[in-house]
Amino acid sequence: MTAVCHRAPWLVTCVEGESTPLADGALVVENGRIVAVGSFADCRNLAATVIDHDGCVLTPALVNAHAHLELSYLAELGQGEPSGGDMPGWIYELLTRRETMTSNAEGITASAGDALATMSAGGCGLVGDIGNDPASCGIGDGSGVEVLFFLELLGLSRVGEERAFSFLASLPDQVLATPHGPYSVTPRLLQAAKERARQLGQRVSIHLAESEDETKFLADGSGGFPDFFKKRGVWDGNFTPPGCSPVAYLDRLGVLDPETLCVHCVQVSDDDIALLARCRAGVCLCPGSNRFLGVGKAPVEKMLAAGIFPALGTDSLASNPFLSIWREMHILMEDHPGLDPAMVFAMASRGGAQGLGMDADYGALAMGKKAAIIAVDYEGSGKDLFEFLVSVGKDATVTWL
Ligand SMILES: [Zn+2]
Repeated sequence: MTAVCHRAPWLVTCVEGESTPLADGALVVENGRIVAVGSFADCRNLAATVIDHDGCVLTPALVNAHAHLELSYLAELGQGEPSGGDMPGWIYELLTRRETMTSNAEGITASAGDALATMSAGGCGLVGDIGNDPASCGIGDGSGVEVLFFLELLGLSRVGEERAFSFLASLPDQVLATPHGPYSVTPRLLQAAKERARQLGQRVSIHLAESEDETKFLADGSGGFPDFFKKRGVWDGNFTPPGCSPVAYLDRLGVLDPETLCVHCVQVSDDDIALLARCRAGVCLCPGSNRFLGVGKAPVEKMLAAGIFPALGTDSLASNPFLSIWREMHILMEDHPGLDPAMVFAMASRGGAQGLGMDADYGALAMGKKAAIIAVDYEGSGKDLFEFLVSVGKDATVTWL
């Protein structure tokens, strides 16, 4: 395929250390990969064809590091009344709806397809997706969005654990399996899932330190989860609370490492943050979902100060009315106005790619990466470029190159 040079008044590369937009920039794409990035003057002679993106800023495709496409058919839940911090109550409602509505497999697939189409139209090129049905492994096929699919494991009772172990044993090696969270699987299952991933060179993506109820449950078995488990009929008293924080618990189990993506990390102490940083564990923030569920705000300034560079995720339509990383950036800035907008935009691209272990292909405009590039209408916004990018929200006008 012949090389094409794309020129724009501004380029935001999201390469680490490059936080200044490149004026009158260009990049050259050949065979689906970026082969050059720089000033237009440097790139113009590298390709016979030049395409101008007037009034636009070119950026890497956004990365949604945590979603549940399978739950898209439960969007009504995420458009309803926020749950006011009652995490067990929200999960109960979600599971109840799921059980009464799962017969409509076609509807589930169609909703997930619609969600992917919306994501793609918004400039999202890569999604870290959690699902419960092995049939969802190919959920992103043909959508134009690359989906890194994780099959979720649950099992806190002896029976649940046994079922999860048999399920795990039945999975082909290429399927990524991940524990749901420290309060919904046994320690044995959590470690086994991580060990399998380690042997297969795969990541795990685990919900961690999302709600106060989770913290209480792991500390001493209190909070809303025991009643929730009893109501669901999955409580057999098999699980003994470890008596520590969710982050410390994962560390004790030997699960925290750079290939573990810890999703949410809202309820984290300074010690927890230091631990996450020391283990170089990945962190994915979901500010929109956290706001909807009323579980608090992740201390992102402290994370950045500790050297953690988080990814951003939306979580599902059941806890977030939109699966838009543009909107997540906007909410994150609203919650933490002191953050550097350039840093936040890099979280939405490079942060996500690194969190999913896909940064060889995604997350920056740099030589060798996939040509997953978007042009965003910027002219006439009257705002500083990065201020604009983190505040434009879900209605950003995006064109794929
Ligand atoms: Zn989630």
